[in-house]
Amino acid sequence: MTVADVFETLDYGPAPESAALAQAWLAERGAKFGLFIGGAWVEPAESGWFDSTNPATSQKLAAIAQATAPDVDAAVAAARRAQPAWAKLGGPGRARHLYALARLVQKHSRLLAVLETLDNGKPIRETRDIDIPLVARHFYHHAGWAQLFETQFAGQEPHGVVGQIVPWNFPLLMLSWKIAPALAAGNTVILKPAEFTSLTALLFAELCQEAGLPPGVVNIVTGDGATGALMVDHGDIDKLAFTGSTEVGRIIRRATAGSGKALTLELGGKSPFMVFDDADLDSAIEGVVDAIWFNQGQVCCAGSRLLIQESVAETFLDKLRARMETLRVGDPLDKSVDIGAIVAPIQLQRIEQLVAQGVEEGAELWQPSWAKPAEGCFYPPTLFTNVQPAATIAREEIFGPVLVSMTFRTPDEAVALANNTPYGLAASLWSETLSLALDVAPKLKCGVVWINSTNLFDAACGFGGYRESGFGREGGREGMAAYVRPKWRRKLPAYADIPKPAESAKPAPSGGIDRTAKLYIGGKQARPDSGTSRPVVSAKGARLAQVGDGNRKDIRNAVEAARKAESWSRATAHLRAQVLYYLAENLDARHAEFATRLRAMTGARAAAASKEVEAAIDRLFSAAAWADKFDGAVHSAPMRNVTLAMNEPLGIIGIACPSEAPLLGFVSLVAPAIAMGNRVVAIPSERYPLSATDLYQVLDTSDVPAGVVNIVTGERDALARVLAEHDQVDALWYVGPAEGCAMVERASVGNMKQTWTNDGKAWDWFDPTQSEGAVVLGHATQVKNIWVPYGE
Ligand code: NDP
Repeated sequence: MTVADVFETLDYGPAPESAALAQAWLAERGAKFGLFIGGAWVEPAESGWFDSTNPATSQKLAAIAQATAPDVDAAVAAARRAQPAWAKLGGPGRARHLYALARLVQKHSRLLAVLETLDNGKPIRETRDIDIPLVARHFYHHAGWAQLFETQFAGQEPHGVVGQIVPWNFPLLMLSWKIAPALAAGNTVILKPAEFTSLTALLFAELCQEAGLPPGVVNIVTGDGATGALMVDHGDIDKLAFTGSTEVGRIIRRATAGSGKALTLELGGKSPFMVFDDADLDSAIEGVVDAIWFNQGQVCCAGSRLLIQESVAETFLDKLRARMETLRVGDPLDKSVDIGAIVAPIQLQRIEQLVAQGVEEGAELWQPSWAKPAEGCFYPPTLFTNVQPAATIAREEIFGPVLVSMTFRTPDEAVALANNTPYGLAASLWSETLSLALDVAPKLKCGVVWINSTNLFDAACGFGGYRESGFGREGGREGMAAYVRPKWRRKLPAYADIPKPAESAKPAPSGGIDRTAKLYIGGKQARPDSGTSRPVVSAKGARLAQVGDGNRKDIRNAVEAARKAESWSRATAHLRAQVLYYLAENLDARHAEFATRLRAMTGARAAAASKEVEAAIDRLFSAAAWADKFDGAVHSAPMRNVTLAMNEPLGIIGIACPSEAPLLGFVSLVAPAIAMGNRVVAIPSERYPLSATDLYQVLDTSDVPAGVVNIVTGERDALARVLAEHDQVDALWYVGPAEGCAMVERASVGNMKQTWTNDGKAWDWFDPTQSEGAVVLGHATQVKNIWVPYGE
């Protein structure tokens, strides 16, 4: 093509990036890769290999080892051996290694970018300008956390050996999100890349050698889902971190239930991209391009549901179609290509099937007039209009360059549509009115909100979701928190329920008038649906009273009451603090009465009973104090923006209380939960429920709004199971024996609610380090990062 031709057509010329460097790297290694275990390259024990191919050309790139059980065992053993010395090296020592890794990623950035593009099919523009620079940024940022570890994470220690499983959509970036914080905290790791995209992880292993990382600190085992499952089931892995599909996330949650393994899951999404009528429409169009055509739409937080305010919908869609005509799909190594190859034929088929289903269900399909490349795994940018909210394509994660659009009239309707998904990962919203944007952002049920921007990531800003998008955060302080645990948890005795003595025929002499306490639901005392009650006996077996025997129906009513009390989550922290102080004041006024009740139930001495009441009052004061102090942060990511990291309530928390410390245990859990704006359905001590039922009047006289605290007495484990299975419950806290902990973790997979259990260990309710302040508040909140760009 001559210069004159270029002026005539104003078309793009070819701008290929050379693959020579990456091809030479592959050739030097015979295009065959073993496993990286204990700092050395080893052949797979059972000698299996699979191919990694270039999805843009279907050509084989390399043979990759398939790790089986002996290999995973060897990798875990190597990580276990290396861990104590790595932790003992101390934060500053580890920081040097992380810094070396960051520098090496930068030094080899071209090779890494080209190799990633060859293996995954994503455009070189993205690997070169986004993936690899972010990888380096992650190692720099976490070198910083390592340096500060001893002061910033005082009293915490690493989990030990961490298993990490990453997907194929951001192979090296996900590796860095996982490995950098794990190493900074003093853990050692076994990482499994996705079967489609192992190559950059293997190159990273070489960088670990070059950086002089001690053998066994990082182990890379390649393989398919079966290799991942071996890691999930491995008895000597202390923590698992997974990114991938919700389906596999569920399998992992079920498989690890009761194992005591710490777990974080970063799963799928169906994120809304909301355009209000006062948005800068041209900027928002470019936002859509970045939201759904970045990485071919194979992004967990892709803005795949376009919600447009009705008054600008026609205009916006016309502009969008015009922009889609100019997008370029093709050779990922071409620097002017917008959309590269889909990762593999099976993913392409999945996209094609879902698109066909969308058409079948009546949505209107639009694709640009130009043809995509005939060879290789490509799919054109696709827009659906006339989509019903219940349509399959509006609900399911397509994981391809396919956008579905819907309209809304008011901000309230926009929020309702945005939240109409079981996922909760991210959202992008566009409006020139910052007050509207900042009003809408906290109402969105997701972990990340981008205002007038989309798909921005930074190591300092936590990323992650809730509900079926998983739990835990990656990046920032909260990301580091997932890789540590409090030191005191190491030496706890096993939890044991307090046995109930046989009931004697005689009622307790000092028990007074026999009474039957009802349930407490929606601010009212309610008879149990079962129409039956349970006796409460003293330590010697004398009957003290009866309490309602709650069942599934009562729990459902309690959850409904908690749902209706939603305004508590929006109440000011000052108001919540006032209510908690008032609760403390009213409990204090009845100190003697509560102490007497404790003595009657537990047989405790007067001083011990009084000490428990005093401690409970203190916990209420502490929760009130924290209500307006457990603040978020403002991060300054290296862009022109601020990121507001807000601690938000989870919503409705189910709480199954321990049988011991019946008043203090109950208050230590319920008070911080409501202080942070959650509503609670609590199951009090099964053995000693009267301390909780006596609280009804205290709650009534302390201005606690109806439905904020609901109490259902009865069989703890049966009721906890109902709460764990309930889709409207956002989190479940359980304190009880190990089997109960396993049960609730298993039962929570329906909506993938967060669980917090005592892992079958006994906490000391009188020790504030174990049951007060950040240790509880962290579980009562989740961080939402709201990105607010600025500039003229
Ligand atoms: P998966 O969830 O299957 O894969 C993610 C990772 O988990 C891979 O390393 C995979 O190994 C591994 N894995 C698979 N099965 C198990 C198992 N039973 N136990 C432990 N590890 C396992 O995602 P897919 O690659 O199959 O993609 C399917 C769909 O998942 C996509 O269409 C998309 O909707 C969604 N997805 C979401 C992602 C996200 O970031 N949220 C990322 C990727 C996919 P291997 O790849 O070797 O089989």
